Amino acid sequence: MQTLHERLFQTSRFLIGTELVSVRGSMAERNAIKARTFANQLVDCPNIDWISITDNAGGNPQLAPTALGKPILYAGKEVVIHLTCKDLNRNGLESEAWLLNSEGFHNILAMTGDYPVAGNEGLAKPVFDIDSVGLISMLNQMNQGFDPKDAQGNRKKLQHEKTQFCIGAVTTNYKLLEGEVMPQYFKLTKKVECGAQFIINQIGFDSRKTSELRVYMDRHEMAQTPLIGNVYLLNPRVAEIFAEGKIPGVVLPLLLLEICRKQSQSTDGGKAFFYEFAAKQMAIYRGLGYRGAYLGGVHNFAAVEKILEIEKSFSTDDWKQFAREINFSRPGEFFFYAHNPATGLADASARNPNPAKPSKHVGLSYYLSKWTHDLMFTRGSALAKAGANLCRNAADPMQGPKPMRALEHVSKAVMFQCKDCGDCSLPDIAFLCPESQCAKNQRNGPCGGTREGRCEVDGYGDCIWLRAYERLKHDGKEQHLLEHAPVVQNQGLRGTSAWANFWLGRDHAAKRQAQPTVEPRPDALATEATSKLKV
Ligand code: SF4
Repeated sequence: MQTLHERLFQTSRFLIGTELVSVRGSMAERNAIKARTFANQLVDCPNIDWISITDNAGGNPQLAPTALGKPILYAGKEVVIHLTCKDLNRNGLESEAWLLNSEGFHNILAMTGDYPVAGNEGLAKPVFDIDSVGLISMLNQMNQGFDPKDAQGNRKKLQHEKTQFCIGAVTTNYKLLEGEVMPQYFKLTKKVECGAQFIINQIGFDSRKTSELRVYMDRHEMAQTPLIGNVYLLNPRVAEIFAEGKIPGVVLPLLLLEICRKQSQSTDGGKAFFYEFAAKQMAIYRGLGYRGAYLGGVHNFAAVEKILEIEKSFSTDDWKQFAREINFSRPGEFFFYAHNPATGLADASARNPNPAKPSKHVGLSYYLSKWTHDLMFTRGSALAKAGANLCRNAADPMQGPKPMRALEHVSKAVMFQCKDCGDCSLPDIAFLCPESQCAKNQRNGPCGGTREGRCEVDGYGDCIWLRAYERLKHDGKEQHLLEHAPVVQNQGLRGTSAWANFWLGRDHAAKRQAQPTVEPRPDALATEATSKLKV
């Protein structure tokens, strides 16, 4: 039996995965029995290459995915386990990863995860100790034999058995604003650099963006990374939920909602339309050169069979017409590539001629912070040397001299709403604090949850990564966003002086400055001149 990794890299067949949503309750519950029956039918279906099992989907507590996964795995089907950072810290995730590897679950879809929306006796406390990039890096290190670092950041020189994870990641470009789309592309690059071996895109209904993603990957050193297209079987109720923005990161434009509403009036409630719609999406992915399709929103085997059967009935080039039909962009939507009027898809030979103008709302605080930072925290500068001397000779070198610590505390609290994490990411995010202004403490790019630039979590306003992108664009440096090495914050530094930690080489920024300079990300356009159009 071929593993998913072998199927992805040693075959050229268009692969099909199906999502199995876990349930709340034990394996004996009626819903779990239903899910198991569905899974058994999928196991017996040769057209299904793998079954993906969700991890507390939508931020709701559910049966652990391995409970549903074991019978599937033992029956010989490939299983992809979703692993997210919302309910477990890095130790919990490491422990879970060892368990998964020991039990034979080698395919992991690593994600940050949705913000919790439920919990016994009130809302659960979210964890987000690390993010998807941190998780992918950790799983990748485990594949190399894992030589973990201790709390001081030193390697422990413990060589472990190598795990065999096939690591997947998720991306989305179905975003409205340039400051949402570009950070998502940069984060995608980071995920692949850190060890993601395959990518699944978010649910979306815009073929131009769907084609843009494949082209972007082909032209940014990710051409060899398999990309799987997300197909979701809609129904009138789900269409309303998506359109209301109740599922983080999923966008269903008004025009499509109106079509769904109209179809719901038909005698079958739109069933035939929605099956065909899903089959058309699958055909588009196949036509665009995606490596496979990931089928969600299906809860019984008959639905899966129906969609596959319809897709099989299409002719080879039908997808081109479907791509013109399923092309629901929003007014003012940002595209990285120009529009090809002949196909309705991304024109890989040209950049979008109308990129957004730099925002006028970049305040003085960004430039002031940058100037001060360069003065105080450039390795070898006079101020950095003086700061190091002061802290080294202080009664508590973790805190530095008391007056300096008080100045740091007050100035950073006022300017950045600093939470004193001690491992400062301000220069990584254009001087915005992920601890106080990002609900998920994202240090390696945005999660997929923004809606028209706003954070998926109420009360957080504009996403810090959108704001960071706008600040850098104003400064002509947006290409540098996320160029830094992955940041996994050191909890051991919390409550200590970030200034002292930098000057005495303890935090991630100091360690990075001590390393040889990283080659800047090549300008997107420059790398494209030599590439070929895929569609
Ligand atoms: S601020 Fe941005 S990255 Fe952070 S949780 Fe909100 S949407 Fe996600």
